[in-house]
Parts: sequence; C-alpha cells; structure tokens
Amino acid sequence: MEPIIGIECHVSLNTKTKLFCSCSLTGNEEPNSRCCDVCIGAPGSKPVLNKKAMEYALKLCLALNCKIADEVVFSRKTYFYPDMGKNYQITQYEIPIGSDGYLEVFGKKIKIKRIQIEEDPAALIHQGNTVLVDYNRSGTPLCEIVTEPDMNSPEEAREFLKRLLTILNYIKIFDIKNCIVKADANVSIKGYERVEIKNINGFKDIERAISYEIERHKSLIKEGNGVKDKETRGWDSDKGITEFQRSKESEADYGYIVDPDLVPIDISKELVEKTRKELPELPQEKSLRYQKEYKIKKDDAEVLANDYELTGLLENAIKKKIDPLFAAEWIRREVTRVLNYNKKELGEIFIIKNLLDVLELIQENKITRQTGQRLMELLIEKDINVKEYVKKQGLELVSDSKELEDICKKILKENTQAVKEYLEGNEKSFMFLVGQCMRSSKGKADPKTINELLKKLIK
Ligand SMILES: [Zn+2]
Repeated sequence: MEPIIGIECHVSLNTKTKLFCSCSLTGNEEPNSRCCDVCIGAPGSKPVLNKKAMEYALKLCLALNCKIADEVVFSRKTYFYPDMGKNYQITQYEIPIGSDGYLEVFGKKIKIKRIQIEEDPAALIHQGNTVLVDYNRSGTPLCEIVTEPDMNSPEEAREFLKRLLTILNYIKIFDIKNCIVKADANVSIKGYERVEIKNINGFKDIERAISYEIERHKSLIKEGNGVKDKETRGWDSDKGITEFQRSKESEADYGYIVDPDLVPIDISKELVEKTRKELPELPQEKSLRYQKEYKIKKDDAEVLANDYELTGLLENAIKKKIDPLFAAEWIRREVTRVLNYNKKELGEIFIIKNLLDVLELIQENKITRQTGQRLMELLIEKDINVKEYVKKQGLELVSDSKELEDICKKILKENTQAVKEYLEGNEKSFMFLVGQCMRSSKGKADPKTINELLKKLIK
C-alpha cells in the first residue's frame, strides 16, 4: 500500500503593492481601508500587472529549476463566492510562468509541474450568522506551486515544504515574519482515487494531515472500501482530523477564459538571464561550498544548507571565528538532537546569541562538551547570560595546571595499588585513576589534560 502524494502550495509575495493595482499590501489594518475599484472588482475597472510581482515569480521559477514561459498570460477562473466581487479570480491557466522544474529532497528530485501567478481573494469574517468581507487582502500577489505526485511519505512532503521555505527565504520574495505557507495535499494509495486536503498551514501540519489521511485510506482498504471517488477534505488542525467537504470539481467546472483586460507581456531572454545572475547562493551551492571550503561532511553540509535557520546559525558561528567544522558538527548532532526531542524549530526555543556563546566556550576549552550539552537543555526557552552563568556556577574547566597537578598527585598517593597494576600493563587501572581525578575535580577538568598529566607523573 504505497502512498502517493502531490502538493500545491500558495506563497504570498512581499511586494509593496497589490498584483493589479497600486493599493498597499501592508499598513492600515482597518477592514476595507486598502482597496480600490480594481481590487474590489468593480465593473469597468482595469487591472494593470505589477512588474515587481512578475520578477519575484521569475526568481522563484529559476530557483526551482523551471522552464520559463515566453510571455505572461492571465486567465479568469470563474466561480461564485462572496470573497471575489467580480466572480472570477485572475490566475494563470493555459501557460504558467514556470513549468517542468524540480526540488531535490533526500536525494530525490520532486518534479515541479507548474508555478503560476494569481491574486488572493478577499478575507471572509464570520460573526454569528453574518459574514463580513474585508477586501484588504484581495489582490495580494500569490505564487502557486504545483508538484507532480512524486512523494511517497509524510516526511518527504514535510521536507519538501521545509526546503521550499528555505529557498523562499534565500531569495527574499516573501515576508519571513508572516511566513505562512499554505498548502493543499493530494493523497492516494496506489490503485485508488485521490483525495485533496485543503488549508494546511506550515510544514508541521502537512506531515500530520497526510499521516492521518494515509491511515484513513489504509483502514478503508482493509474494510474493502478503498477510495473510489475524488473528494475534497478540510484539515482541522485542532482536532487533528480531515473532514469531508465536497466531491472534487474538475478544472473544466471553472470555465477558464483568457483575460482580455491584461495584454500578454513578453519575458525577454535578457530579463531571465539578469534574474538568474542576481539569484543568491542557493542550498545546493551552499552545501558544495561548505564541503569544499570548510571540509564539512557531505551529509552534514546538505542538512545544514537546506535548513534556513540552521544555516544562519552556522554562518553566524563562522563570523564569530568558531571553527566551521566543529560548529557544523555540534549544530548537526547536538542542536538538532535537542530540537527533535522537543519537536521545535530553532527560533522557537533558542536565542541564537546564547548558543553561539556555548560554542565559543567549548572551542576555547573553557567548558567540557558535557557542560555544553547541559547548558543547551537549560537554554530551552530561557534567556540566561551564558558566560556569567558558567562563572557563577563554577562550571569552568580547571585550567590552572598547579591545581590539576595537585589533584593528580593526591589521587596517585591514595591509589598505589592501581598505579602498580597499571605499571604491570593493566589499562583499566589507568582509566580508574583518570576517573578518580575527574571526580575529584567535580568534572571540571579536561580528561585529555588529566591523561597527559598522570602519564607524566607516573613516569
Ligand atoms: Zn486596489
């Protein structure tokens, strides 16, 4: 029972103005304060394409390895619903701006079928039995990204969205603070019909929603009633379930026609090349550079480069003159361990400066790795001054060689039998002596230094 998963997701572009008019995208939050004839869809109003939105979409298409259309053409998708005054949404249908791209996830190329530009409808506000319409959102530029059904597990779908988000952050075409990526997922079990799950917000919920749906399909198959008709379901994040909404309509039901108000606009080869050159370093290039420049292992480099937050942490550490290889390893092993255990993302539980302080203290040999691990547990959702805390709690490694030597001498004197056994070739006795010294220093000595000191003193 192999699951087959495809994703459609919507990203709001952070242009200054709306897609087809000069109303501002941000500012006054008073309902219906940022709108005009065009974005409320008044009869006779004429939309004019925002070139910036087109350029942002072009960036995204190139970052996702898409073929670029020769021209931008818009169509009207007709439907009747109060969130769209003109009863159609301006979108792209026949020729999307980008097609045939891919995004690599866990070494597998997930094909991008199409990327299109479209306008966001207005927001509906439900108040008891009344529905209010706020047109401030109407006309916000969106990019819709549609994948082929190339994913086979909820983890893959989550990672796809996460990597997409990383790229979106790198190319800076959307607002990271309001970075809700809205997605719909098509889910089926091989040999059966597919179900579309609507309105999933963010990559944690995509994994939950798809997992739930796959299990539902599997139990239907076990009962002898695998999914036979296409349907649309909604995701309820609070209850953690999907709910039936309607039988799925086909694209033909929307009666698309090319929008006669918007003349096709050429996308010149020069513009494509200029945009391509302006793209920042993307995850794949970053990963290769990490491997070459810092000798970070391939696996670590890939994981770090594909996570916007972890990469940020690594690059900040490098700026603070922390050894890249050590930083990469610590972030990949220790930081992700704590994050996975708490099922959280970096920015949700850590203050970056505190983590960098921990890294610095370990690198300077001022604390042990174990102390570093303990500090990280402490830093979860808590802001403490790491350096002061370490001093106050006496967690600093004993670096005074006289003090260490005294500890070693004392332990050797108290354990003559073990010394004798070690001299006869018993390595375990030596480890015992190291252990005694560590204990005597209350774990604040560097085991390597103790090792060397003991060997020197026994000779
Ligand atoms: Zn407007």
